[in-house]
Amino acid sequence: MELKKYQFWFCTGSQDLYGDECLAKVAQHSKQIVDKLNKSGMLPYEVVWKPTLITNELIRKTFNEANADENCAGVITWMHTFSPAKSWILGLQEYRKPLMHLHTQFNEELPYDSIDMDFMNENQSAHGDREYGHIVSRMRIERKVVVGHWSDPVVVGKIASWMRTAVGIMESSHIRVMRVADNMRNVAVTEGDKVEAQIKFGWEVDAYPVNEIAESVAAVSQSDTNALVDEYYDKYDILLEGRDPEEFKKHVAVQAQIELGFERFLKEKNYQAIVTHFGDLGALKQLPGLAIQRLMEKGYGFGAEGDWKVAAMVRLMKVMTAGMKDAKGTSMLEDYTYNLVKGKEGILEAHMLEICPSIADGPISIKCQPLSMGDREDPARLVFTSKEGHGIATSLIDLGNRFRLIINDVECKKTEKPMPKLPTATNFWTPEPDIYTGAEAWILAGGAHHTAFTYDLTAEQMGDWAAAMGIEAVYIDKDTKIRDFKRDLMLGEVFYR
Ligand code: MN
Repeated sequence: MELKKYQFWFCTGSQDLYGDECLAKVAQHSKQIVDKLNKSGMLPYEVVWKPTLITNELIRKTFNEANADENCAGVITWMHTFSPAKSWILGLQEYRKPLMHLHTQFNEELPYDSIDMDFMNENQSAHGDREYGHIVSRMRIERKVVVGHWSDPVVVGKIASWMRTAVGIMESSHIRVMRVADNMRNVAVTEGDKVEAQIKFGWEVDAYPVNEIAESVAAVSQSDTNALVDEYYDKYDILLEGRDPEEFKKHVAVQAQIELGFERFLKEKNYQAIVTHFGDLGALKQLPGLAIQRLMEKGYGFGAEGDWKVAAMVRLMKVMTAGMKDAKGTSMLEDYTYNLVKGKEGILEAHMLEICPSIADGPISIKCQPLSMGDREDPARLVFTSKEGHGIATSLIDLGNRFRLIINDVECKKTEKPMPKLPTATNFWTPEPDIYTGAEAWILAGGAHHTAFTYDLTAEQMGDWAAAMGIEAVYIDKDTKIRDFKRDLMLGEVFYR
């Protein structure tokens, strides 16, 4: 995945009341903090030190430079001393990118023996950050507040986590979804207002006739296709299940040709996400299965049956987790069927074909099986089970007058036994706080059967993204109680009308 080399500006607030010596120390301290943050090895993006902000003019100029700088994904602000907050109004008013308020101070401990009034004037974040925080709240500006000493790994971790949210906010308006099929007939939850999505999230959602992309597929040469088939056979186990090896390979080759044709078409037209529909395939010989799975692994968003909201959300999550060390994966999933045996409850997650192999655990195999729906050749697909551990399942829904993001913390597990007859990749999870409360809350909130799922982001990160987009986020997690949850939904109806 190619992303910009994003940076975050570190802006320290002060004023000229305390003399040059004090201001020199403020600058020196903030440089030291920036240096330490960059050397922590914990931040996904670089922090850039900026000269201390002490006047209206400089504050306004700096925020506008941040707006104009394509690589700047956000500003981290901190008031080392007192900084009268009226000086910040114009700059904040004109600033349009993610904002963090790092509420820290240079020294960790009270210097009991040496503390005097000069020290107090120089080190008064507890004081100055409250003045600054007040104006940001009064101006109703969405921002992240992180509290603690800058050397604390917990604090650095919070900055790192927010940086990914900020990049999600910045990159949201660069998401372009290609629809080569409309929404599945009569299905409600995958529908939505595409114009409103562009206004809120910056997403461009465009339609193309499926046969235009089919032509791009047909144009892929035999030799390119064969080379990719060789790569597949090298990388994945082949599960013939009684099929003729040559016939099987021909089916796989159809997917290789689709992968190359789709990728070329998406690149040429500058789209980062795509939707398909099993009932609208034009000249394509198979429903894209293995092909879409591979594209998702490369970072493309995907939604099935015309589900452009999930396609955009999967892309967003791929962007937010880009370059993450030890990432466990992100995929579209679908709630399919339950295990309701007491103590073993969970939801079997799958789709007809299109699950991203980034979430796979263990070997990945190619199978070729008929689809029960549609009228095409048996499609080749990657089959695997998924990693264990914590993840989040999200559903973005259109409530008619507005969007809501539903975020459920889930615990992914291995199924008790293998499912040898199931020809799809799977995940299996128990929603928090338990399946009964989790599913009840999900249904009350209007959550879809399709989800954008990841192991690598938190509910907080997605909720902060939603807040920056100006939409409601509801959380289903270990603390969820139905009575409170219903009240949250009612409050949302009032607040987000
Ligand atoms: Mn589906």
